[in-house]
Amino acid sequence: MKIVLLGPPGSGKGTQANIICQKYNLPHISTGDIFRSNISQGTPLGKKVKEYIDSGSLVPDELTISIVEDRLRQDDCKDGFVLDGFPRVLSQAIALDKIVNLDKAIMIDLSDEEIVRRLSGRRMCKKCGNPTHIDWLKNGKCEKCGGEVYVRDDDKEETVKARLAKQKLPQEVIDFYIKKGIYAKVSALDTKEKTFEKVDSILREIKK
Ligand code: AMP
Repeated sequence: MKIVLLGPPGSGKGTQANIICQKYNLPHISTGDIFRSNISQGTPLGKKVKEYIDSGSLVPDELTISIVEDRLRQDDCKDGFVLDGFPRVLSQAIALDKIVNLDKAIMIDLSDEEIVRRLSGRRMCKKCGNPTHIDWLKNGKCEKCGGEVYVRDDDKEETVKARLAKQKLPQEVIDFYIKKGIYAKVSALDTKEKTFEKVDSILREIKK
């Protein structure tokens, strides 16, 4: 099962990716997570990408594509993966197409208005690393593992607006997957569980 999750920042791609990966035992590959862990470890890559991420801009392709290629060539991706946050531009979609045959590109769709509402309430767990939301916390802590939560630097209001303005998924990426016959769209306006039911019905079609 080789899946790409598309969608604006804050649409719940990461949450859906986590649920899919748990159910189907697949590796979750998030370019944003890879960049953030490099930043927190102070690696050369982290130093190069920090400025782009903090300003809500896209990291250039020459830094992004090779990371994804290397990751997908690892053994655990042989039987499938869920790619979250990549591709974000046509050049990335084309590069990806050269190295894997995707089964589905699923758009997790949400309006800008709802995204701003959700991102302003998003929290990240320091312990399990998962995204959560102020409405889901238990006693102010991660509802899954009880870890402390924090606000991602790029979830601050100004950066959220910049990300939405600078990172709208180009229609040409969507058209690319429509032409390949692997595009599907799911509204993320429902709860994460209901959204997953819709995503899962698409995944079950692949497995048939
Ligand atoms: P995300 O966690 O997917 O929202 O990504 C966080 C940030 O990492 C984005 O705002 C971009 O600055 C950068 N980023 C993640 N994935 C990509 C990508 N495929 N291409 C360029 N920049 C990316």
